[in-house]
Amino acid sequence: MDTNVSNSWEQRDMQAVFHGFTDLGTLNAEGPVILTHGDGIRVFDVHGKSYIDANSGLWNNVAGFNHQGIIDALCAQARKFPGYHAFFGRVADTTVALSEKLIELSPFDAGKVYYTNSGSEANDTVVKMLWMLHRRNGQPQRRKIITRVNAYHGVTVATASMTGKAYNAEFGLPLPGFLHADCPHYWRFGLEGETELEFSARLARNLEELILKEGPDTIAGMFAEPVQGAGGVIVPAEGYFEAIRPILRKYNIPFIADEVICGFGRTGEMWGSVKYDMQPDIIVASKCITAGYFPMGAVILGKAFCDALMKVSEEAEEFPHGFTAGGNPLGSAVALKSLAVIEDEGLLGNVNKVSGRFMARLKKLGEHKYAGEARGVGLMGAVEIVADKKTKQPLPGHLQISERIANKALKKGLICRPLGQAIVLGPPFIITEAEIDQIFDILEETVDEVFADVGL
Ligand SMILES: *Cc1c(COP(=O)(O)O)cnc(C)c1O
Repeated sequence: MDTNVSNSWEQRDMQAVFHGFTDLGTLNAEGPVILTHGDGIRVFDVHGKSYIDANSGLWNNVAGFNHQGIIDALCAQARKFPGYHAFFGRVADTTVALSEKLIELSPFDAGKVYYTNSGSEANDTVVKMLWMLHRRNGQPQRRKIITRVNAYHGVTVATASMTGKAYNAEFGLPLPGFLHADCPHYWRFGLEGETELEFSARLARNLEELILKEGPDTIAGMFAEPVQGAGGVIVPAEGYFEAIRPILRKYNIPFIADEVICGFGRTGEMWGSVKYDMQPDIIVASKCITAGYFPMGAVILGKAFCDALMKVSEEAEEFPHGFTAGGNPLGSAVALKSLAVIEDEGLLGNVNKVSGRFMARLKKLGEHKYAGEARGVGLMGAVEIVADKKTKQPLPGHLQISERIANKALKKGLICRPLGQAIVLGPPFIITEAEIDQIFDILEETVDEVFADVGL
């Protein structure tokens, strides 16, 4: 063993932890941040410095970082029955209770829930469900998956192929048969003189052309986030889902709402797919389902799709798929409590109560000389930095403007996320208006300083 290892947590991290989704230039220059605990919307590092986490961890710590009720629910379940699987028709009682709750909360009249440990696994599971269903129904060629440019659906081989981000070229992805339709971002992709509704109609025509070109009977399903999250908080253009829904119906293409970020209140509604009237066949949930306190993903199958899948699974004797830890009762207890907290302790109500302040401050930041668009809904928002408001031309990439802003904000005790040339915010649902003001006060000061630093 290396006897020269320094004792600082930062150096120990640099020696022992391989970080994914981390800008390694920044990591090498600035070092990691090692956290010990949290309090409300704040987290604390090993030196006692506190940070407001304006991203709720990764969108998921919506009840803050030390919610006693959720912690107690976890501990109580740990004492009662800390672990079991969901194979062979066996399952923990708590997991049954959670399933009933999820169906009740869902827009479906009835259905069933399938458990995974993450959002990626949940989307990946749906791909296999679609493939098996179509294959058993005499359409083995029905395998292509449609998603959209800028979509984020996860990191497994299938879900990275579904994710519409350039970095997946590093892995030689997407795999063949994963198609990417247009991104519904009107500000970025709308044509000169085109209205928002015309834009949505054009995207719907393009989608139909894609389906016809590929062959409607080769398409297994289409996945969409209600609001694209990791794509930079892309709120769908007006009329977008209304325009594409009938096309999917026309060609019998199952529609899956990836609600991993939007689900359970982020947009101000329990479901983003209800807010935008997507009328999906399946809902995929994760992130907020356990308020970030336990790994869990859930595939919520609406009744019609569920019945069809049950039928072919019976023919095959089983649905041959499962994760060892899927449906773990600790996660189920945490989820039951988290959903109760969101519903009954007024967290969803608070999203709506403070969203006005959040959006107002976001729009104000959007008036900055170098802000192109300030967009968002509920408690998710982004400000896109541009070189020129009119042409929407981005600043030169080498300036790394959003990384600079995020790095400087971090020094001032604010965690926010650089995404391309945008700064993305998604604070915990427990946030107050005063705390929202604190976030934007720090951010405004930071933006001015960074533009001064780079000489703009
Ligand atoms: C985070 C995310 C996923 C992936 O979830 P993991 O738990 O990280 O695997 C999938 N879809 C969306 C919309 C997400 O935001």
